[in-house]
Amino acid sequence: MKGVVFLGDRKAEVRQFPEEEPGPAEVLLRMRASGMCGSDLHKYRAPVPEITFAENRIGHEPCGEVAAVGAGVTNLRVGDRVINHHYLGCGQCRFCHMGYQQLCNSTAFKKGYYGGSLHGGHGDYMVCAASTCVPLPDELTFEAGAMLACGTSTAYLALTKLEVSGRDVLAIFGQGPVGVAATMLGAAMGARVIAVDPSPARLELARKAGAWKTVNPGEGDSVGQIMALTHGEGADATLEAVGLPLTRKQAATSARVFGRSVLVGERGQAIYDATPDIIHRHLTIYGSWTVSMPGMEEAARFVVDRQIPLHELISDRVAIGDAVDAYRRFDRQDTGKMVIVWD
Ligand SMILES: [Zn+2]
Ligand SMILES: [Zn+2]
Repeated sequence: MKGVVFLGDRKAEVRQFPEEEPGPAEVLLRMRASGMCGSDLHKYRAPVPEITFAENRIGHEPCGEVAAVGAGVTNLRVGDRVINHHYLGCGQCRFCHMGYQQLCNSTAFKKGYYGGSLHGGHGDYMVCAASTCVPLPDELTFEAGAMLACGTSTAYLALTKLEVSGRDVLAIFGQGPVGVAATMLGAAMGARVIAVDPSPARLELARKAGAWKTVNPGEGDSVGQIMALTHGEGADATLEAVGLPLTRKQAATSARVFGRSVLVGERGQAIYDATPDIIHRHLTIYGSWTVSMPGMEEAARFVVDRQIPLHELISDRVAIGDAVDAYRRFDRQDTGKMVIVWD
């Protein structure tokens, strides 16, 4: 079977891998859709001495059908449609019991994640623990399931932390896959969304996703533009999905007094002038890291019940054999969501 690996320094490769079988408590998934996530670009761009797990198939947004079940699996059957929650925890600690396997704190268990320390979704098949599978609602496509596997559910959890409502103006920094999903979901929750991104193509997609206004930082200071749209007061809530010091600071300073802000974009530093930027403005800042398994189910249910057209956010559907070129294009950061699909 085919699979995709990253070799560092922006090199990807499609390789042949031997067939695999599920062990006890595991299932074999026939992959149907596997999303490309902005956080994959960190690994894609990593210099050769720093890249880890270069021998493993990447892809942490897997969605597919159960093709075989290992011994002792009672919760899944062949043919079930599932989303993989890509973290493997001990299953016994309090964070695993909450469905936050990414927070597993067992000292006896070596936690892993699919698409990193374990083979991920960019392969024709994938073996994973049965306990990491979330049911894909019948109403949703595999592509929508792949989007919910990471990016869209990450956006959903961050919005629930902000308790977004129809009373809010919500500024979202970054309109990559997570940011634009937050725009679509935030608009469905009733907020008037201000989408911020330097890419005109991404701002166009944000408008289609339901953005009320768009802000291009290339046309003047983002904070000033947001102030001009909010009677000089700032947004009620802000979401940062870029991961740069400047946009993190702007997410704070473009929020109104008593406003709230959530940080989603990963890595690097945040540099605030604490008193004027946060303290004297009574700002509440949240951190939000992907999603729990129950949170993913809730996000999927929200998408079904509100008939959220997630497919409109997909700009590229690619075959696994074309993954090398797909990552080259995704790296330019002006595409919509890109998904590897199987017929
Ligand atoms: Zn991700
Ligand atoms: Zn655990």
